[in-house]
Amino acid sequence: MGILEKGLEALFPSNIYCVSCGSIIDHTRDYALCDACMEKFHWLGRKTCEKCGKLLQEDHRHSLCYDCMRHDHQFDKGYTCVQYSLYERGVLMDYKYKGRSYIGRKLGDILCDRMALTNETFDLIVPVPLHRKKLVRRGYNQAEIMARQLASRWGVPCGSNVLERTRETRPMKGLGAFERYENLRDSFAVSRKNQYQLRGKRLLLVDDIYTTGSTMDACCVPLRQAGSARICCLTFACGANVPPKEQ
Ligand SMILES: [Zn+2]
Ligand SMILES: [Zn+2]
Repeated sequence: MGILEKGLEALFPSNIYCVSCGSIIDHTRDYALCDACMEKFHWLGRKTCEKCGKLLQEDHRHSLCYDCMRHDHQFDKGYTCVQYSLYERGVLMDYKYKGRSYIGRKLGDILCDRMALTNETFDLIVPVPLHRKKLVRRGYNQAEIMARQLASRWGVPCGSNVLERTRETRPMKGLGAFERYENLRDSFAVSRKNQYQLRGKRLLLVDDIYTTGSTMDACCVPLRQAGSARICCLTFACGANVPPKEQ
């Protein structure tokens, strides 16, 4: 735990208040969420996209989501925990923009339990990096805290400096699929500081949110070039399965 995180832990003890609504809870609760918030979260059910892991509607007649039916992805398989909506958004906003970095460890616990439901094994966990300037502004990379927690609980190394952002990109909100692709193209590289041999390795990319998968795809390009054998991605929340016309 870094000094900043220790200070925040003292200010906002992570297992006394629910991380979503602030209600007082006890230490035995999973993920520092109260019962009411546990119920409000849109936990992913059994029917998920075979490729990206997004939640599919019960009456959706395909094994892939609308997005994966139209676009191929660079990663092998995606996993996610909840569908992004009001409550999930609140937790992520507090986590990313209010300095509550301790929430990342709770989200890391959720990621760990999600992966326990699969038969996957990995050699290295790789958080999606932030651009240096953004990292300085925010003080921490939200994906890295989650990835470190997952890695320590799972006993898999966490390669925090495997990837780096080579340039700043525009915010992705409101951009279409092609614009997202263009915005992110060549924006990730395997860092020169990276100490891991990636050839033949199975990697798990970790981020907070999955929408169209364009960030994950962009991360996969340099990792494939470095010889990674299998790349899966894991996020806390994913967007809804929306038919093309409504997007
Ligand atoms: Zn709550
Ligand atoms: Zn999909």
